[in-house]
Amino acid sequence: MKIAKTKSRIRELIQGQAIGFVPTMGALHEGHLSLVRESKSRGLFTVVSIFVNPTQFNNPEDLARYPVDLDRDQRMLEVAGCDLVFIPDREEIYPAHNGSDAYIHDFGFLESRFEGHFRPGHFRGVGQVVHIFFEIIQPGVAFFGEKDFQQLQVIRRLVEITGMDTEIVGMPTIREEDGLAMSSRNRRLNKQQRTSSLILHKALAHARQYKDSRPLSVIRQDVAAMFSQEPLAELEYFDIIHSGSFDPAETYIPSTDQRVVIAAYVGEVRLIDNMALD
Ligand code: AMP
Repeated sequence: MKIAKTKSRIRELIQGQAIGFVPTMGALHEGHLSLVRESKSRGLFTVVSIFVNPTQFNNPEDLARYPVDLDRDQRMLEVAGCDLVFIPDREEIYPAHNGSDAYIHDFGFLESRFEGHFRPGHFRGVGQVVHIFFEIIQPGVAFFGEKDFQQLQVIRRLVEITGMDTEIVGMPTIREEDGLAMSSRNRRLNKQQRTSSLILHKALAHARQYKDSRPLSVIRQDVAAMFSQEPLAELEYFDIIHSGSFDPAETYIPSTDQRVVIAAYVGEVRLIDNMALD
Protein backbone atom coordinates (compact mmCIF):
# COMPACT_ATOMS: atom_id res chain seq x y z
CA MET A 1 0.00 0.00 0.00
CA LYS A 2 1.37 3.38 -1.00
CA ILE A 3 0.95 6.63 0.88
CA ALA A 4 0.75 10.09 -0.72
CA LYS A 5 0.66 13.39 1.11
CA THR A 6 0.73 15.81 -1.78
CA LYS A 7 -1.32 16.38 -4.91
CA SER A 8 1.69 16.02 -7.17
CA ARG A 9 2.68 12.68 -5.60
CA ILE A 10 -0.82 11.23 -5.81
CA ARG A 11 -1.15 12.31 -9.45
CA GLU A 12 2.06 10.39 -10.20
CA LEU A 13 0.89 7.27 -8.39
CA ILE A 14 -2.58 7.00 -9.97
CA GLN A 15 -1.60 7.50 -13.60
CA GLY A 16 -3.28 5.09 -15.99
CA GLN A 17 -5.36 3.38 -13.27
CA ALA A 18 -9.11 2.75 -13.16
CA ILE A 19 -9.80 4.26 -9.78
CA GLY A 20 -12.27 3.48 -7.01
CA PHE A 21 -12.24 6.26 -4.45
CA VAL A 22 -13.35 6.19 -0.80
CA PRO A 23 -13.18 9.59 0.94
CA THR A 24 -13.02 9.41 4.77
CA MET A 25 -12.15 11.48 7.79
CA GLY A 26 -10.21 8.61 9.38
CA ALA A 27 -10.75 6.86 12.73
CA LEU A 28 -11.77 3.99 10.52
CA HIS A 29 -14.16 1.14 11.27
CA GLU A 30 -15.89 -1.69 9.41
CA GLY A 31 -18.26 0.77 7.74
CA HIS A 32 -15.37 2.43 5.95
CA LEU A 33 -13.73 -0.90 5.18
CA SER A 34 -16.92 -2.20 3.56
CA LEU A 35 -16.56 0.61 1.00
CA VAL A 36 -12.91 -0.29 0.40
CA ARG A 37 -13.79 -3.96 -0.10
CA GLU A 38 -16.56 -3.10 -2.55
CA SER A 39 -14.12 -1.03 -4.59
CA LYS A 40 -11.55 -3.85 -4.55
CA SER A 41 -14.17 -6.44 -5.51
CA ARG A 42 -14.80 -4.40 -8.68
CA GLY A 43 -11.13 -4.71 -9.59
CA LEU A 44 -10.47 -1.01 -9.11
CA PHE A 45 -7.23 0.61 -7.99
CA THR A 46 -8.55 1.73 -4.63
CA VAL A 47 -7.67 5.12 -3.20
CA VAL A 48 -8.75 6.11 0.31
CA SER A 49 -8.37 9.68 1.52
CA ILE A 50 -8.06 10.54 5.20
CA PHE A 51 -8.75 14.22 5.75
CA VAL A 52 -10.64 15.85 8.60
CA ASN A 53 -12.17 18.60 6.53
CA PRO A 54 -12.46 21.83 8.53
CA THR A 55 -14.99 23.45 6.19
CA GLN A 56 -17.72 20.90 6.93
CA PHE A 57 -17.66 21.40 10.70
CA ASN A 58 -20.20 23.96 11.81
CA ASN A 59 -19.16 23.35 15.42
CA PRO A 60 -15.46 24.07 16.22
CA GLU A 61 -15.58 21.82 19.33
CA ASP A 62 -16.68 18.90 17.19
CA LEU A 63 -13.72 19.52 14.86
CA ALA A 64 -11.26 19.82 17.76
CA ARG A 65 -12.48 16.55 19.27
CA TYR A 66 -12.74 14.56 16.06
CA PRO A 67 -10.77 11.32 16.70
CA VAL A 68 -7.47 10.82 14.86
CA ASP A 69 -5.71 7.45 14.72
CA LEU A 70 -3.55 7.40 11.60
CA ASP A 71 -1.33 4.42 12.43
CA ARG A 72 -4.27 2.17 13.15
CA ASP A 73 -6.11 3.48 10.06
CA GLN A 74 -3.17 2.60 7.83
CA ARG A 75 -2.90 -0.91 9.26
CA MET A 76 -6.62 -1.50 8.71
CA LEU A 77 -6.46 -0.21 5.15
CA GLU A 78 -3.48 -2.38 4.33
CA VAL A 79 -5.35 -5.50 5.53
CA ALA A 80 -8.48 -4.48 3.56
CA GLY A 81 -6.41 -4.32 0.37
CA CYS A 82 -6.38 -0.56 -0.19
CA ASP A 83 -3.84 0.39 -2.87
CA LEU A 84 -3.14 4.00 -1.98
CA VAL A 85 -3.89 6.28 0.97
CA PHE A 86 -4.00 10.02 0.45
CA ILE A 87 -3.31 11.96 3.65
CA PRO A 88 -2.97 15.63 2.70
CA ASP A 89 -2.61 18.44 5.21
CA ARG A 90 -4.95 21.44 5.20
CA GLU A 91 -2.61 23.66 3.17
CA GLU A 92 -2.47 21.04 0.42
CA ILE A 93 -6.25 21.08 -0.01
CA TYR A 94 -6.94 24.75 0.73
CA PRO A 95 -3.71 26.55 -0.25
CA ALA A 96 -4.97 30.05 -0.92
CA HIS A 97 -7.67 30.68 1.60
CA ASN A 98 -7.54 27.77 4.01
CA GLY A 99 -11.12 26.84 3.27
CA SER A 100 -12.80 30.01 4.40
CA ASP A 101 -14.03 31.18 0.99
CA ALA A 102 -17.66 30.82 0.07
CA TYR A 103 -18.43 27.81 -2.06
CA ILE A 104 -20.34 28.22 -5.28
CA HIS A 105 -22.59 25.19 -5.44
CA ASP A 106 -26.07 25.32 -3.99
CA PHE A 107 -27.62 22.00 -3.03
CA GLY A 108 -31.15 23.40 -2.78
CA PHE A 109 -33.58 21.76 -0.35
CA LEU A 110 -30.85 19.37 0.84
CA GLU A 111 -29.25 22.35 2.57
CA SER A 112 -32.36 23.41 4.44
CA ARG A 113 -33.78 20.09 5.64
CA PHE A 114 -32.69 17.89 8.58
CA GLU A 115 -28.87 17.72 8.52
CA GLY A 116 -28.73 20.82 6.35
CA HIS A 117 -30.96 22.71 8.79
CA PHE A 118 -29.20 21.64 11.98
CA ARG A 119 -25.67 21.94 10.56
CA PRO A 120 -25.66 25.19 8.55
CA GLY A 121 -22.89 25.22 5.95
CA HIS A 122 -22.07 21.55 6.51
CA PHE A 123 -23.05 20.30 3.06
CA ARG A 124 -21.30 23.17 1.27
CA GLY A 125 -18.15 22.07 3.10
CA VAL A 126 -18.75 18.46 2.11
CA GLY A 127 -19.43 19.44 -1.51
CA GLN A 128 -16.35 21.66 -1.57
CA VAL A 129 -13.93 19.02 -0.33
CA VAL A 130 -15.38 16.17 -2.41
CA HIS A 131 -15.20 18.38 -5.50
CA ILE A 132 -11.53 19.17 -4.79
CA PHE A 133 -10.73 15.47 -4.22
CA PHE A 134 -12.58 14.39 -7.37
CA GLU A 135 -10.62 16.92 -9.42
CA ILE A 136 -7.30 15.68 -8.04
CA ILE A 137 -8.06 11.96 -8.24
CA GLN A 138 -10.56 11.79 -11.15
CA PRO A 139 -12.13 8.54 -9.93
CA GLY A 140 -14.26 6.42 -12.25
CA VAL A 141 -16.28 5.29 -9.23
CA ALA A 142 -16.61 6.72 -5.71
CA PHE A 143 -18.18 4.91 -2.75
CA PHE A 144 -20.26 6.50 0.00
CA GLY A 145 -22.22 5.06 2.92
CA GLU A 146 -26.00 5.27 3.28
CA LYS A 147 -25.27 5.94 6.95
CA ASP A 148 -24.98 9.56 5.76
CA PHE A 149 -28.00 9.34 3.50
CA GLN A 150 -28.47 13.06 2.96
CA GLN A 151 -24.76 13.47 2.23
CA LEU A 152 -25.05 10.75 -0.41
CA GLN A 153 -27.79 12.79 -2.12
CA VAL A 154 -25.61 15.92 -1.92
CA ILE A 155 -22.78 14.06 -3.66
CA ARG A 156 -25.13 12.80 -6.39
CA ARG A 157 -26.32 16.39 -6.87
CA LEU A 158 -22.72 17.65 -6.98
CA VAL A 159 -21.91 15.26 -9.81
CA GLU A 160 -25.08 16.33 -11.62
CA ILE A 161 -24.28 20.05 -11.25
CA THR A 162 -20.63 19.81 -12.24
CA GLY A 163 -21.00 17.09 -14.88
CA MET A 164 -18.02 15.24 -13.40
CA ASP A 165 -17.56 11.79 -14.84
CA THR A 166 -17.68 9.76 -11.62
CA GLU A 167 -20.18 7.02 -10.81
CA ILE A 168 -21.50 7.34 -7.25
CA VAL A 169 -22.19 4.09 -5.42
CA GLY A 170 -24.18 4.10 -2.16
CA MET A 171 -23.46 1.24 0.26
CA PRO A 172 -25.54 -0.15 3.15
CA THR A 173 -24.98 0.98 6.73
CA ILE A 174 -22.77 -1.34 8.77
CA ARG A 175 -23.93 -1.77 12.36
CA GLU A 176 -22.62 -3.12 15.63
CA GLU A 177 -24.27 -6.38 16.73
CA ASP A 178 -26.75 -4.51 18.93
CA GLY A 179 -27.82 -2.24 16.06
CA LEU A 180 -25.83 0.94 16.67
CA ALA A 181 -24.63 2.31 13.33
CA MET A 182 -20.83 2.31 13.23
CA SER A 183 -19.37 5.81 13.44
CA SER A 184 -16.01 7.32 14.28
CA ARG A 185 -17.86 9.40 16.86
CA ASN A 186 -18.93 6.28 18.81
CA ARG A 187 -15.42 6.21 20.28
CA ARG A 188 -16.27 9.28 22.29
CA LEU A 189 -19.14 7.56 24.14
CA ASN A 190 -18.52 6.29 27.66
CA LYS A 191 -20.08 3.01 28.79
CA GLN A 192 -23.39 4.47 29.95
CA GLN A 193 -23.67 6.68 26.88
CA ARG A 194 -22.90 3.70 24.66
CA THR A 195 -25.89 1.90 26.19
CA SER A 196 -28.11 4.98 25.76
CA SER A 197 -27.05 5.40 22.15
CA LEU A 198 -29.10 2.32 21.27
CA ILE A 199 -32.17 4.53 21.40
CA LEU A 200 -31.47 5.77 17.87
CA HIS A 201 -31.68 2.29 16.39
CA LYS A 202 -34.67 1.46 18.60
CA ALA A 203 -36.52 4.49 17.25
CA LEU A 204 -35.86 3.44 13.65
CA ALA A 205 -36.88 -0.14 14.38
CA HIS A 206 -40.05 1.13 16.10
CA ALA A 207 -41.08 3.01 12.98
CA ARG A 208 -40.54 -0.05 10.81
CA GLN A 209 -42.43 -2.29 13.18
CA TYR A 210 -45.53 -0.09 13.52
CA LYS A 211 -45.69 1.58 10.10
CA ASP A 212 -48.69 -0.61 9.05
CA SER A 213 -50.62 -0.47 12.29
CA ARG A 214 -50.18 3.08 13.62
CA PRO A 215 -50.52 6.50 11.97
CA LEU A 216 -47.11 8.10 11.39
CA SER A 217 -48.14 10.95 13.72
CA VAL A 218 -48.48 8.40 16.54
CA ILE A 219 -45.11 6.86 15.72
CA ARG A 220 -43.55 10.33 15.96
CA GLN A 221 -45.17 10.78 19.40
CA ASP A 222 -44.00 7.32 20.50
CA VAL A 223 -40.41 8.21 19.65
CA ALA A 224 -40.61 11.55 21.48
CA ALA A 225 -41.90 9.60 24.51
CA MET A 226 -39.04 7.06 24.23
CA PHE A 227 -36.55 9.93 24.37
CA SER A 228 -38.22 11.55 27.34
CA GLN A 229 -37.49 8.29 29.22
CA GLU A 230 -33.79 8.38 28.30
CA PRO A 231 -32.02 11.14 30.25
CA LEU A 232 -28.61 10.75 28.57
CA ALA A 233 -30.01 11.24 25.06
CA GLU A 234 -31.54 14.34 23.52
CA LEU A 235 -33.50 14.06 20.30
CA GLU A 236 -32.68 16.64 17.63
CA TYR A 237 -34.97 15.33 14.91
CA PHE A 238 -36.88 12.20 14.04
CA ASP A 239 -39.02 11.95 10.94
CA ILE A 240 -40.40 9.73 8.26
CA ILE A 241 -39.70 11.24 4.88
CA HIS A 242 -39.99 10.70 1.16
CA SER A 243 -36.38 9.89 0.14
CA GLY A 244 -36.47 11.92 -3.06
CA SER A 245 -37.71 15.22 -1.62
CA PHE A 246 -37.00 14.86 2.10
CA ASP A 247 -40.59 16.00 2.64
CA PRO A 248 -42.17 14.50 5.78
CA ALA A 249 -44.60 11.70 4.89
CA GLU A 250 -48.21 11.93 6.03
CA THR A 251 -48.99 8.25 5.71
CA TYR A 252 -47.03 5.10 5.09
CA ILE A 253 -47.27 4.02 1.47
CA PRO A 254 -45.46 0.74 0.74
CA SER A 255 -42.75 0.63 -1.94
CA THR A 256 -42.49 4.41 -2.34
CA ASP A 257 -38.99 4.83 -0.95
CA GLN A 258 -39.93 6.30 2.41
CA ARG A 259 -37.21 6.52 5.03
CA VAL A 260 -36.84 7.16 8.75
CA VAL A 261 -34.17 9.69 9.72
CA ILE A 262 -32.90 10.58 13.16
CA ALA A 263 -30.28 12.73 14.90
CA ALA A 264 -29.68 12.89 18.64
CA TYR A 265 -27.09 13.98 21.14
CA VAL A 266 -25.85 11.39 23.59
CA GLY A 267 -23.90 13.50 26.03
CA GLU A 268 -21.82 15.82 23.84
CA VAL A 269 -21.73 13.40 20.94
CA ARG A 270 -24.05 13.98 18.01
CA LEU A 271 -25.18 10.77 16.33
CA ILE A 272 -27.23 10.25 13.17
CA ASP A 273 -28.89 7.23 11.61
CA ASN A 274 -31.52 6.36 9.02
CA MET A 275 -33.27 3.36 7.55
CA ALA A 276 -35.56 2.52 4.65
CA LEU A 277 -39.12 2.06 5.91
CA ASP A 278 -39.80 -0.98 3.68
P1 AMP B 1 -16.62 9.67 7.47
O1 AMP B 1 -15.22 9.21 7.77
O2 AMP B 1 -17.52 9.62 8.65
O3 AMP B 1 -16.65 10.96 6.71
O4 AMP B 1 -17.23 8.58 6.48
C1 AMP B 1 -16.59 8.24 5.28
C2 AMP B 1 -17.50 7.39 4.46
O5 AMP B 1 -17.83 6.20 5.18
C3 AMP B 1 -18.83 8.08 4.15
O6 AMP B 1 -19.23 7.75 2.83
C4 AMP B 1 -19.76 7.47 5.16
O7 AMP B 1 -21.12 7.48 4.77
C5 AMP B 1 -19.23 6.05 5.23
N1 AMP B 1 -19.64 5.41 6.48
C6 AMP B 1 -19.50 5.92 7.73
N2 AMP B 1 -20.05 5.08 8.64
C7 AMP B 1 -20.57 4.04 7.93
C8 AMP B 1 -21.28 2.84 8.29
N3 AMP B 1 -21.58 2.56 9.55
N4 AMP B 1 -21.66 2.01 7.30
C9 AMP B 1 -21.36 2.30 6.00
N5 AMP B 1 -20.70 3.39 5.61
C10 AMP B 1 -20.30 4.25 6.55
